[in-house]
Amino acid sequence: MPTQQTAHADPTHVGNNMYQLMRELYPFCRSITGNGNRKTLEIIKQHIPLVVHEVPTGTQVFDWQVPKEWNITDAYIKNGKGERIVDFRKSNLHVLNYSMPVKKKVSLAELKQHVFAMPEHPDWIPYRTSYYKEQWAFCMTYNQLSQLTEQEYEVCVDSTLKDGHLTYGEYHIPGETPDRVLISSHICHPSICNDNLSGIVLNACLAKHLSRLSPRYSYTFLFVPGTIGPITWLARNETLAARIKHGLVAACVGDGGNFNYKRSRRGNDEIDRAVIHVLKHSGRDYQVWDYVPTGYDERQYCSPGFNLPVGCLMRTPNGMYPEYHSSADNLDLVRPEFLAESFSMYTAVLDVIEKNKIYVNQNPKCEPQLGKRGLYALVGGQGDRKLQETAVLWVLNLSDGEHSLLDIAEQSGLRFDVISEAADVLLQHDLLKEILG
Ligand code: ZN
Repeated sequence: MPTQQTAHADPTHVGNNMYQLMRELYPFCRSITGNGNRKTLEIIKQHIPLVVHEVPTGTQVFDWQVPKEWNITDAYIKNGKGERIVDFRKSNLHVLNYSMPVKKKVSLAELKQHVFAMPEHPDWIPYRTSYYKEQWAFCMTYNQLSQLTEQEYEVCVDSTLKDGHLTYGEYHIPGETPDRVLISSHICHPSICNDNLSGIVLNACLAKHLSRLSPRYSYTFLFVPGTIGPITWLARNETLAARIKHGLVAACVGDGGNFNYKRSRRGNDEIDRAVIHVLKHSGRDYQVWDYVPTGYDERQYCSPGFNLPVGCLMRTPNGMYPEYHSSADNLDLVRPEFLAESFSMYTAVLDVIEKNKIYVNQNPKCEPQLGKRGLYALVGGQGDRKLQETAVLWVLNLSDGEHSLLDIAEQSGLRFDVISEAADVLLQHDLLKEILG
C-alpha cells in the first residue's frame, strides 16, 4: 500500500529524477497545440505508458472549438547590420506564444508596438501569449528594449497557424473500485519551470509511483494544455468525469515557498480535508484558500455543470512570486529538494484518500480487554506506546459505522497514519469490520 512504499522512497532520488526530467523538457516550445507538446508527451511516455490523443481543429467542445495548431521553427529581430539582436534559438520566450507568422522590415516605432518587456525586472524576458487573437509580437528584456536605436529592423516569426490537432496525454491505472482520483497538470508553457514543468514532472512521478502499487481507487493522470485541454477532455469523457471522487491540479510545486492549498468549489470535500489534515501535521507553515473561479484548470473541473471535488495544491501560487511568467521562472528557481517535498506531500494526501475507510467496532459494549489480546505490546514502539494506545481507544470508540478514519483523526487531533495503523491492528484482531460502499 502507498504508505510503506512512500516511506521507502528516497526523497533525494525522487527529487533528482523529477529535476532531470524537467531539465529534459525545459527547451521545448510548448503551447496549447503543436509539436512542442507532442515532444513533451513523447518524453513522458518513456516513463509512463501515456495514451496520447489528437483532437482535430474545429472540434466543438462545449462552448469552445479546438483552435488551429501552432508550430514555430525560428524567429528573430535583426538590426541594420543583419545581426540577430533577439533570437528565438536562445530563448523560446522571445516570441509571443501563438504569434502569427511575419517577415518584414519595420521602423523602431513600429517594432515597439510589437514588443513586450518588464520594466520592473529589466533583465527578465516576459512570457506572453495570444491564443485567441491573431497578432505577432516579441518579448525581450527591458534592458534590450531601451538600447534599441533608430534604424530599420528585420522581424521574422517563422511560424504556422493551420488546421491540425490539439494534443493531450492521459494515463489510467485501474483500482479495486471504478471510483477515480484525478491528477491534472497543464503542459502549455514553453521554457517555464515552476508554473508548468514542476506540475508535469510531479504528475509523471506520481503516476509512476501509483503504477507500482495496487490502489483502491482508479487513477487518471492528465497532461493537458491549460483551459482548452480540460474543456476538451471533459467534453470527451463526461461519463468518466462523473466517477471522479477526488482530484488535484498540480502546478507551482518546485519553488521553495510554503505550501498553499486552494479548496475545491465544494469547499470541504474529502480531498480538501485530506490535504488540510496532511498540511496541518506537516510541521510547516501553510495557507488554505477558499475556492475562486480564477486560477488553473480547477476552473473547468469545478464549473457548476461538473462541480468535481478538485483542489489545487501548490507551493507559491501562480502570480504570487516575482519570477512568475518570466524567464526567471527557470531551472535555478526550482530545486530537486523542493520537488521531493511536494512529491511527499502529494503521496501523503493520496495515502489518506486510499486508506480512509469506515469501520464498525465488533465489541461495542464497553471497551474490549486489550491486555488479554496482547494489544498494548503489539501496537507501536516503546516511545509511541501511549500515543498508539490512545489511537486504539479513539478508533474503537468512533468506529460506529458513521465515522471514517479521517473523521477520527480530525476529532482526536492525531495524525491519520497513527489512526490508520491502530485500525490495522484492530482489524487483525477482528475487533473491526469494514463498512463497504
Ligand atoms: Zn501560467
